[in-house]
Amino acid sequence: TKLLLLLAFSLFCHTAIAQNQQQMKTFVDALMNKMTLEEKIGQLNLLTSGEVVTGSAVSTGVEAKIKAGQVGAMLNMTKVEDIRRTQQIAMDQSRMKIPLLFGLDVVHGYKTTFPIPLALSCSWDMDMIEKSARIAAIEASADGINWTFSPMVDIARDARWGRIAEGSGEDPYLGSKIAAAMVKGYQGNNFSENSNILACVKHFALYGAAEAGRDYNTTDMSHVRMYNDYFPPYKAAVDAGAATVMTSFNDVDGIPATANKWLMTDVLRKQWGFKGFVVTDYTAINEMIAHGLGDLQQVSALALKAGTDMDMVGEGFTGTIAQSLKEGKIDINTINTACRRILEAKYKLGLFADPYRNSKGDRTGDIYTAQNRLEARKAATESFVLLRNQQQLLPLKKQGSIALIGPLADSRENMTGTWSVSADITKHASLREALQKEVGSQVTINYAKGSNLTADSMLEINSTMFGRSLHRDGRSAAELRKEALEAAAKSDIIVAALGEASEMSGESASRTDIGIPDTQKELLAALVATGKPVVLVLFAGRPMTLVWESEHVPAILNVWFGGCEAGAAIADVLFGAVNPSGKLTTSFPQNVGQVPLYYGQKPTGRPLAGNDKWFTKFRSNYLDVSNEPLYPFGYGLSYTTFSYSDIRLSANTLSTGGNIKATVTVTNTGKQDGVEIVQLYTRDVVASITRPVKELKGFQRIALKAGESRQVTFTITENDLKFYNNELKYAAEPGEFKLFIGGNSRDVKETGFSLK
Ligand code: BGC
Repeated sequence: TKLLLLLAFSLFCHTAIAQNQQQMKTFVDALMNKMTLEEKIGQLNLLTSGEVVTGSAVSTGVEAKIKAGQVGAMLNMTKVEDIRRTQQIAMDQSRMKIPLLFGLDVVHGYKTTFPIPLALSCSWDMDMIEKSARIAAIEASADGINWTFSPMVDIARDARWGRIAEGSGEDPYLGSKIAAAMVKGYQGNNFSENSNILACVKHFALYGAAEAGRDYNTTDMSHVRMYNDYFPPYKAAVDAGAATVMTSFNDVDGIPATANKWLMTDVLRKQWGFKGFVVTDYTAINEMIAHGLGDLQQVSALALKAGTDMDMVGEGFTGTIAQSLKEGKIDINTINTACRRILEAKYKLGLFADPYRNSKGDRTGDIYTAQNRLEARKAATESFVLLRNQQQLLPLKKQGSIALIGPLADSRENMTGTWSVSADITKHASLREALQKEVGSQVTINYAKGSNLTADSMLEINSTMFGRSLHRDGRSAAELRKEALEAAAKSDIIVAALGEASEMSGESASRTDIGIPDTQKELLAALVATGKPVVLVLFAGRPMTLVWESEHVPAILNVWFGGCEAGAAIADVLFGAVNPSGKLTTSFPQNVGQVPLYYGQKPTGRPLAGNDKWFTKFRSNYLDVSNEPLYPFGYGLSYTTFSYSDIRLSANTLSTGGNIKATVTVTNTGKQDGVEIVQLYTRDVVASITRPVKELKGFQRIALKAGESRQVTFTITENDLKFYNNELKYAAEPGEFKLFIGGNSRDVKETGFSLK
């Protein structure tokens, strides 16, 4: 009977879904029958609030377009009154009364800002990541936003690329889990809750593989690599039901993604079954003119025919598609299909039933709540990565005096990182403010800025970018340093808050030198030379090169950009209220010459080990540094230590349909409770194509009391061993496999099994 009930229930669900689909189709058919060509093309148009972006209000030019039915969606509006008024224009003054979508880059929280995505990924905490997206959706929807341009799931293995900050790092397996968690957080199970908003997975595809780490640059990659390494997170987001997809700026196989029919139609829709709509990135259609693909009419037609449905800001569709139709360069079905996809998204969201669902203005109490801020604080503590902790310098004791030094020590502007325009920094504490609050009168804090963030020459190059976060101090470098050394002299310990300014990562913020800027490094060297113990609190939007720091500074806590509660969270970790547990999701190179660097490399025919004489000279290495990262993928310390023992498999052979259980005993060998992220990797030893030396296939985040041991078990099935072969067939190949378990990708216990 159980089975029968289950069958009946699933039949019921299927019928209900089919009925809903039918209702939607009938509704959209009826609507489209009444729409003019211009109104249909209007749905494909996404605009910002004004020709000149002056604020949130809609300019008269845009208002006229909305009335004329020439706009389907708006972006970058953040005031609920403006959104409501704009929706009212569409509902009351346009002929078809089709509600608008309101999109925004709600990337790591809305007002309650969470750590930047790269930081969040270092928590390896899927529940928390999903919750962060849920909170973002609740807050953003309370301000009328119903569509977020997130998650950004581009795999990135080049630390020069500034947008590495916005994604989940280098690994396709972890990236896929995070992509799915975020989509679920934004969209919920369906859109029946009016706090659920449309997710937009971006940037499809390969944006993170821009050559030389230079933003918007070309990409060139084999299909085997695309399918195995770069596509999985996009696909996972689609599988999780992402309602929309954003194209990337770059070309793929010679064709800009926005006009790439293979990507937008064959891969996305035919292979993956994507049913939502595709939006371009900002003016990506117009940029194809510069790519050399033709004039605006030509590139607009190419994009629409490729399967791109909505044009972000460039107005190529509204400007030229009607003409292309007239000239027979595009057919009406293509326009109808795109229009239908957008109307369907609005229907699913419930906008036709309630165009103001999110913008009634009665939910402002949902924003910046104490509970949300607590979640942000917890998320931040989980995202920090302790890179080094000699002689257990950390956690600090609440006694004596601390010299708090550095251009990032008292800067509210630099706590939240890229894409946090909606955050209200007047409500956030700087590190100095948060530490002071934490220690009260127990500890004396001697603060000094110590240096500016960058040398003046760098400022000149980037003066426009760094407007907000730089806070120049007019004093000379020598004067600033003198003050810092005086503060250090009267303190027991030095906490140096150094690293990147917020605007040194994110969009169009690539760097060739990925170290701490020289002015700050000189300050750090001077502080180390005092002989006092130094804790480096590192702010960063990317993996940074830290060789000198790792040799000379006893403790390094990487805090990324931790969001609105970063200050309090840093205090939590520095004083030991929270034991750090974050693990890197990108390899940290020794120097920029090693980039691109990632753990899942392919083996070369010239391995570094072995006694072959020939190979001792002609190896795949550098003359000046080893191939090893400074800190490997999966790495991160705790205030306690963990040991791994007794790795065991339930069987030596895996057969189709079966599974193997891999078990390891993890012990907290230190004196404090802690959280460990246990990682499982495999290696396909013999296959029809070259395979990575290690691939993450599982992880578990476990809390262990001091002295506690626990058996951790992973289940491996044939599915976990599948990959795309040279014919892009997805299958596991029988043969030998290695299996590794450990606390990072380098320090692992090894065993093996075979697949029959
Ligand atoms: C970025 C996207 C973003 C869009 C809208 C573009 O410049 O590449 O990630 O969603 O702007 O703000």
